[in-house]
Amino acid sequence: MAPRANFPTMPPDCPAFPLRLTIDAAALADNWRALDRLSGSASAAAAVKADGYGLGARRVVPLLWDAGCRTFYVAHWAEAAELLDLVTPGSVAVLHGPLSAADASFAKSSGLRPVINTLAQAQLWQAAGGGLCDLMVDTGINRLGLAMGELADPSIAGLEIDTLHSHLASADEASPLNETQRGRWLGACNQLPHRRAALANSAGIALGEGYHGQLTRPGLALYGGVPCSTLAPHIRQVAFPQVQLMQRRTLQAGDTVGYNATFTASAPMEVGVVSLGYADGYLRCWSNLGTIRAGEAELSVLGRISMDMTVLDLSAALDLAEGDWVTIDYALPESASKTGLSQYELLTSLGRRFQR
Ligand SMILES: *Cc1c(COP(=O)(O)O)cnc(C)c1O
Repeated sequence: MAPRANFPTMPPDCPAFPLRLTIDAAALADNWRALDRLSGSASAAAAVKADGYGLGARRVVPLLWDAGCRTFYVAHWAEAAELLDLVTPGSVAVLHGPLSAADASFAKSSGLRPVINTLAQAQLWQAAGGGLCDLMVDTGINRLGLAMGELADPSIAGLEIDTLHSHLASADEASPLNETQRGRWLGACNQLPHRRAALANSAGIALGEGYHGQLTRPGLALYGGVPCSTLAPHIRQVAFPQVQLMQRRTLQAGDTVGYNATFTASAPMEVGVVSLGYADGYLRCWSNLGTIRAGEAELSVLGRISMDMTVLDLSAALDLAEGDWVTIDYALPESASKTGLSQYELLTSLGRRFQR
């Protein structure tokens, strides 16, 4: 029997999804170039973990490579493995590092670069034969990374460090913690030999030259997120979720829409049902709140979002037909302030039913 993994995920005659995530490839490339330029003498890498923040890592990585990006960060080894045929293995680093000897030997055999976060990971890497790796130093977020006091450990002295990283906790606000972390990061850089130093995520790039080192690690802003107002003029929307209209209907005054009847028509009106719901990441916070575009027309979401259905007011687009495509309003800063979700959550929760 042929191995299951070799089966295509869909037969060739399988009907297309009624949802698609359209990517503005030029905007993605422009965002990377803007962040690279704003990084001054440092180069911009790209965080492509969580399937390229939900946009599809296999879609965004070649576009970023063509724009000039040469370093990519994922969280897990399995995420890195999915990119092996797209870019040179040495350009992909795995932020969570090796958790087992098997991870370390996979890194060695595939040529992927581990980010070493603990003394145990340093030992696993050395035991697997070592070689170029990155090192994450914790300077105050207290998440992954070596403590400052561990840097003198003999297992660290033997490492061949490509990039010495730290990660800011509050880059998107004017916090004294930024300068504290920067000072510790510079201290770590003075203590350990390395080729490049990196501290800044998207928001960190806007903190200025002192935060850039030789490499920056933007994620969110590549994909159209705006973590701080300084970046707003440089960043364009990249992800445009679109969905098909499945059914139209006419409501009479007093008719209600959806679970728990949270919308009531005050007069006869035309509505439409699109194949979009909270199972697709269009969460219930959009109920009676979201808007959708049909060309220039703005259509309001009526009533509760269901698992895979959302009802729209068609008053502004009376000629919209069943089967037509509409575009969900999903500009990230505006959507975040409307819903209370973070821009990161808005992107990474878009579900598997969106064709990418
Ligand atoms: C995810 C991640 C980034 C990217 O951060 P953004 O805020 O999305 O720009 C940078 N560095 C590390 C260590 C990360 O985990």
